[in-house]
Amino acid sequence: MITRFAPSPTGPLHLGHAYSALLAHDRARAVGGKFLLRIDDLDQSRARPHWEDQIYDDLTWLGVRWDGPVRRQSDHFQDYTAVLARLRDRGLTFECRCSRRDIEAAANAPQEGQPDFGPDGRIYPGTCRALHLGLSDATCTRLNMHQACLTGLPARFEETGPTHHGAHTLIAQDMTNTVGDVVLSRRDMAASYHLSVVVDDFDSGVTDVIRGEDLFEATRIHMLLQSLLEMPTPRYHHHGLIRDEAGKRLAKRDDARAISKFREDGLSPADIRALVGL
Ligand code: GLU
Repeated sequence: MITRFAPSPTGPLHLGHAYSALLAHDRARAVGGKFLLRIDDLDQSRARPHWEDQIYDDLTWLGVRWDGPVRRQSDHFQDYTAVLARLRDRGLTFECRCSRRDIEAAANAPQEGQPDFGPDGRIYPGTCRALHLGLSDATCTRLNMHQACLTGLPARFEETGPTHHGAHTLIAQDMTNTVGDVVLSRRDMAASYHLSVVVDDFDSGVTDVIRGEDLFEATRIHMLLQSLLEMPTPRYHHHGLIRDEAGKRLAKRDDARAISKFREDGLSPADIRALVGL
């Protein structure tokens, strides 16, 4: 078993991160497997070295030890670009020049009964899909969901988390209507989260992805990309989210529950485990 923890260095780790890291770490250790650490610093406009240092410090304090070198996404931009080129060459993508405002305007007449938002934000209305724009005219590259489903399905993944336990089969119509043409790369970002995470987990040999339930819906996109790229699909475990007293999920800006704050207040790693129910 190879598990991983993949925080973004854009703020302090909080209790929710501690839960995720400890769960993935403990699962691997329990069976003599490996636990990897990845720094998801794809978004260079938000990633900060001091947050990365704080991640190492907090994890070490928590007793989490990772195997091998840390993988940083910013060291792998070329890998993402190469994988994107494979999809592009097979006609599974298209270039898009829509701004956020264009998408909002085009989405003003939504089709009845269909959701406006999917796991990748507002569902793309399709404006540039048939325009065959060149790279130089585009601001981002999108997956052509219809083509991708024709090529990549059938596909299914196994979920072992509490809320969505069982096998999940991707259905083309659902993917087109509730996910749509997701962004794979932007002019200022070599890969979107979806593309990078699939490449990273494959390159690192991750067998079990353990992460928060908020990412469950995105897993359908990851599974489809794995199928298109002939990469094995890991097992997935989406755990429940740690919430504050009001029932709201913790956010990066929720400094009050930062691990570093608990440390300052004199709590021990065992106290943190108890707080998250481990
Ligand atoms: N970097 C992502 C986050 O901090 C997690 C990615 C993943 O676990 O797939 O939310």
